[in-house]
Amino acid sequence: MLKGILNYSHYLLALSTQNGETVIDATCGNGNDTLFLSKKVGKEGHVLAFDIQDQAIKNAKALVEGHNCSNISFIHDSHVNVSEYLSSESKVGAAIFNLGYLPKSDKTIITQGESTISSIKSILGFLRQNGLIVIVVYHGHKGGKKEKEMILSYVMNLDQKKYHVLRYDFINQKNNPPFLLAIQKK
Ligand code: SAM
Repeated sequence: MLKGILNYSHYLLALSTQNGETVIDATCGNGNDTLFLSKKVGKEGHVLAFDIQDQAIKNAKALVEGHNCSNISFIHDSHVNVSEYLSSESKVGAAIFNLGYLPKSDKTIITQGESTISSIKSILGFLRQNGLIVIVVYHGHKGGKKEKEMILSYVMNLDQKKYHVLRYDFINQKNNPPFLLAIQKK
Protein backbone atom coordinates (compact mmCIF):
# COMPACT_ATOMS: atom_id res chain seq x y z
CA MET A 1 0.00 0.00 0.00
CA LEU A 2 2.80 2.44 0.86
CA LYS A 3 4.69 3.29 -2.31
CA GLY A 4 8.49 3.20 -2.49
CA ILE A 5 10.21 6.55 -3.05
CA LEU A 6 10.55 6.29 -6.84
CA ASN A 7 7.03 4.94 -7.30
CA TYR A 8 5.72 7.73 -5.13
CA SER A 9 7.61 10.31 -7.18
CA HIS A 10 5.88 9.07 -10.35
CA TYR A 11 2.54 8.86 -8.56
CA LEU A 12 2.82 12.55 -7.60
CA LEU A 13 4.03 13.58 -11.06
CA ALA A 14 1.12 11.72 -12.65
CA LEU A 15 -1.34 13.52 -10.38
CA SER A 16 0.12 16.95 -11.05
CA THR A 17 0.96 16.78 -14.76
CA GLN A 18 -1.51 17.83 -17.43
CA ASN A 19 -1.60 16.80 -21.05
CA GLY A 20 0.04 19.39 -23.32
CA GLU A 21 2.10 21.24 -20.76
CA THR A 22 5.81 21.90 -20.22
CA VAL A 23 7.61 19.83 -17.58
CA ILE A 24 11.24 19.48 -16.50
CA ASP A 25 13.51 16.57 -15.71
CA ALA A 26 16.31 18.50 -14.02
CA THR A 27 18.61 15.43 -13.69
CA CYS A 28 17.78 13.15 -16.60
CA GLY A 29 20.48 10.52 -15.94
CA ASN A 30 19.43 7.29 -17.62
CA GLY A 31 16.14 8.87 -18.66
CA ASN A 32 13.58 6.97 -16.59
CA ASP A 33 11.78 10.11 -15.39
CA THR A 34 12.17 11.75 -18.80
CA LEU A 35 10.34 8.86 -20.48
CA PHE A 36 7.66 8.85 -17.82
CA LEU A 37 7.07 12.61 -18.17
CA SER A 38 7.09 12.42 -21.96
CA LYS A 39 4.21 9.93 -21.89
CA LYS A 40 2.30 12.00 -19.32
CA VAL A 41 2.34 15.31 -21.22
CA GLY A 42 1.65 13.72 -24.62
CA LYS A 43 2.44 14.94 -28.13
CA GLU A 44 1.42 18.53 -27.45
CA GLY A 45 3.50 18.72 -24.30
CA HIS A 46 7.20 19.40 -23.88
CA VAL A 47 9.83 17.80 -21.62
CA LEU A 48 13.07 19.68 -20.96
CA ALA A 49 15.62 17.07 -19.82
CA PHE A 50 18.88 18.40 -18.36
CA ASP A 51 22.12 16.64 -17.57
CA ILE A 52 25.71 17.83 -17.36
CA GLN A 53 27.05 14.44 -18.50
CA ASP A 54 27.20 13.48 -22.13
CA GLN A 55 26.95 9.81 -21.13
CA ALA A 56 23.68 10.44 -19.30
CA ILE A 57 22.14 12.19 -22.31
CA LYS A 58 23.26 9.30 -24.54
CA ASN A 59 21.79 6.72 -22.13
CA ALA A 60 18.53 8.64 -21.88
CA LYS A 61 18.24 9.02 -25.66
CA ALA A 62 18.78 5.27 -26.03
CA LEU A 63 16.09 4.56 -23.42
CA VAL A 64 13.42 6.67 -25.13
CA GLU A 65 14.23 5.43 -28.63
CA GLY A 66 11.29 3.61 -30.16
CA HIS A 67 8.83 5.25 -27.74
CA ASN A 68 7.77 8.00 -30.12
CA CYS A 69 8.97 10.76 -27.80
CA SER A 70 9.31 13.74 -30.14
CA ASN A 71 8.23 16.01 -27.27
CA ILE A 72 11.60 15.78 -25.43
CA SER A 73 14.40 18.36 -25.66
CA PHE A 74 17.60 16.86 -24.26
CA ILE A 75 19.78 19.65 -22.89
CA HIS A 76 23.44 19.01 -22.18
CA ASP A 77 23.73 21.77 -19.60
CA SER A 78 23.34 22.38 -15.88
CA HIS A 79 19.81 22.78 -14.52
CA VAL A 80 21.11 26.05 -13.04
CA ASN A 81 20.55 27.55 -16.49
CA VAL A 82 16.94 26.36 -16.78
CA SER A 83 15.53 29.87 -17.31
CA GLU A 84 17.59 30.22 -20.51
CA TYR A 85 15.52 27.42 -22.05
CA LEU A 86 12.11 28.87 -21.12
CA SER A 87 10.44 32.04 -22.37
CA SER A 88 9.34 34.65 -19.86
CA GLU A 89 5.67 33.61 -20.38
CA SER A 90 6.37 29.87 -19.98
CA LYS A 91 4.38 27.95 -17.39
CA VAL A 92 5.77 24.73 -15.98
CA GLY A 93 3.44 22.02 -14.61
CA ALA A 94 5.98 19.82 -12.86
CA ALA A 95 9.68 19.20 -12.38
CA ILE A 96 11.72 16.39 -10.91
CA PHE A 97 15.20 16.26 -9.42
CA ASN A 98 16.83 12.91 -8.64
CA LEU A 99 19.88 13.96 -6.68
CA GLY A 100 23.24 12.25 -6.44
CA TYR A 101 25.30 10.52 -9.15
CA LEU A 102 24.54 8.68 -12.37
CA PRO A 103 24.05 5.01 -11.41
CA LYS A 104 27.00 2.74 -12.41
CA SER A 105 29.06 5.79 -13.30
CA ASP A 106 31.55 8.27 -11.81
CA LYS A 107 30.42 8.78 -8.20
CA THR A 108 32.29 12.08 -7.95
CA ILE A 109 30.00 13.80 -10.48
CA ILE A 110 27.10 14.64 -8.18
CA THR A 111 24.41 17.25 -7.82
CA GLN A 112 25.47 20.11 -5.53
CA GLY A 113 23.38 21.99 -2.99
CA GLU A 114 24.05 25.49 -4.34
CA SER A 115 23.17 24.66 -7.95
CA THR A 116 20.21 22.45 -7.01
CA ILE A 117 18.71 25.25 -4.86
CA SER A 118 19.39 27.86 -7.53
CA SER A 119 17.59 25.71 -10.09
CA ILE A 120 14.64 25.04 -7.77
CA LYS A 121 14.33 28.81 -7.20
CA SER A 122 14.28 29.44 -10.97
CA ILE A 123 11.68 26.76 -11.62
CA LEU A 124 9.45 28.07 -8.82
CA GLY A 125 9.26 31.32 -10.80
CA PHE A 126 7.75 29.45 -13.78
CA LEU A 127 5.58 26.97 -11.89
CA ARG A 128 1.84 27.27 -12.54
CA GLN A 129 -0.69 27.25 -9.72
CA ASN A 130 -0.82 23.74 -8.18
CA GLY A 131 2.34 22.84 -10.10
CA LEU A 132 4.75 20.51 -8.34
CA ILE A 133 8.50 20.11 -7.90
CA VAL A 134 9.54 16.65 -6.72
CA ILE A 135 13.03 16.14 -5.28
CA VAL A 136 14.31 12.64 -4.56
CA VAL A 137 17.13 13.14 -2.06
CA TYR A 138 19.88 10.50 -2.18
CA HIS A 139 22.39 11.37 0.52
CA GLY A 140 24.43 8.26 1.37
CA HIS A 141 27.29 9.13 -1.01
CA LYS A 142 30.21 11.50 -0.36
CA GLY A 143 28.83 15.04 -0.55
CA GLY A 144 25.24 13.86 -0.16
CA LYS A 145 24.84 14.88 3.48
CA LYS A 146 25.88 18.46 2.77
CA GLU A 147 23.44 18.76 -0.14
CA LYS A 148 20.64 17.18 1.92
CA GLU A 149 21.12 19.67 4.75
CA MET A 150 21.23 22.67 2.41
CA ILE A 151 18.08 21.61 0.58
CA LEU A 152 16.16 20.80 3.75
CA SER A 153 17.04 24.17 5.19
CA TYR A 154 15.90 25.88 1.97
CA VAL A 155 12.56 24.07 1.55
CA MET A 156 11.65 24.23 5.24
CA ASN A 157 11.81 28.01 5.00
CA LEU A 158 9.63 28.41 1.91
CA ASP A 159 6.66 30.67 2.68
CA GLN A 160 3.74 28.48 3.80
CA LYS A 161 1.33 31.05 2.37
CA LYS A 162 2.72 30.30 -1.10
CA TYR A 163 3.81 26.65 -1.01
CA HIS A 164 2.91 23.31 0.50
CA VAL A 165 6.10 21.38 1.28
CA LEU A 166 5.95 17.63 1.91
CA ARG A 167 8.61 15.21 3.16
CA TYR A 168 7.94 11.50 2.45
CA ASP A 169 10.36 9.29 4.31
CA PHE A 170 10.69 5.66 5.50
CA ILE A 171 11.99 6.38 8.98
CA ASN A 172 12.88 2.80 10.01
CA GLN A 173 15.17 2.04 7.03
CA LYS A 174 18.91 1.77 7.62
CA ASN A 175 21.90 3.03 5.59
CA ASN A 176 20.77 6.53 4.56
CA PRO A 177 17.69 5.63 2.50
CA PRO A 178 16.54 8.25 -0.01
CA PHE A 179 13.54 10.38 0.83
CA LEU A 180 11.24 12.60 -1.18
CA LEU A 181 10.42 16.29 -0.97
CA ALA A 182 7.55 17.83 -2.90
CA ILE A 183 6.83 21.55 -3.28
CA GLN A 184 3.39 22.49 -4.52
CA LYS A 185 2.64 26.07 -5.51
CA LYS A 186 -0.63 27.26 -3.96
N1 SAM B 1 16.58 10.26 -12.87
C1 SAM B 1 17.75 9.62 -13.40
C2 SAM B 1 17.40 8.28 -14.02
O1 SAM B 1 16.22 7.99 -14.23
O2 SAM B 1 18.32 7.54 -14.32
C3 SAM B 1 18.85 9.50 -12.39
C4 SAM B 1 19.53 10.79 -12.09
S1 SAM B 1 21.09 10.62 -11.29
C5 SAM B 1 20.64 10.18 -9.66
C6 SAM B 1 21.63 12.30 -11.12
C7 SAM B 1 22.03 12.93 -12.43
O3 SAM B 1 22.17 14.33 -12.21
C8 SAM B 1 23.36 12.44 -13.00
O4 SAM B 1 23.20 11.90 -14.28
C9 SAM B 1 24.23 13.72 -13.04
O5 SAM B 1 25.07 13.80 -14.16
C10 SAM B 1 23.16 14.80 -13.07
N2 SAM B 1 23.60 16.14 -12.63
C11 SAM B 1 24.48 16.47 -11.66
N3 SAM B 1 24.58 17.80 -11.53
C12 SAM B 1 23.74 18.34 -12.47
C13 SAM B 1 23.41 19.66 -12.85
N4 SAM B 1 23.95 20.72 -12.22
N5 SAM B 1 22.52 19.84 -13.85
C14 SAM B 1 21.95 18.77 -14.47
N6 SAM B 1 22.22 17.48 -14.16
C15 SAM B 1 23.11 17.27 -13.16
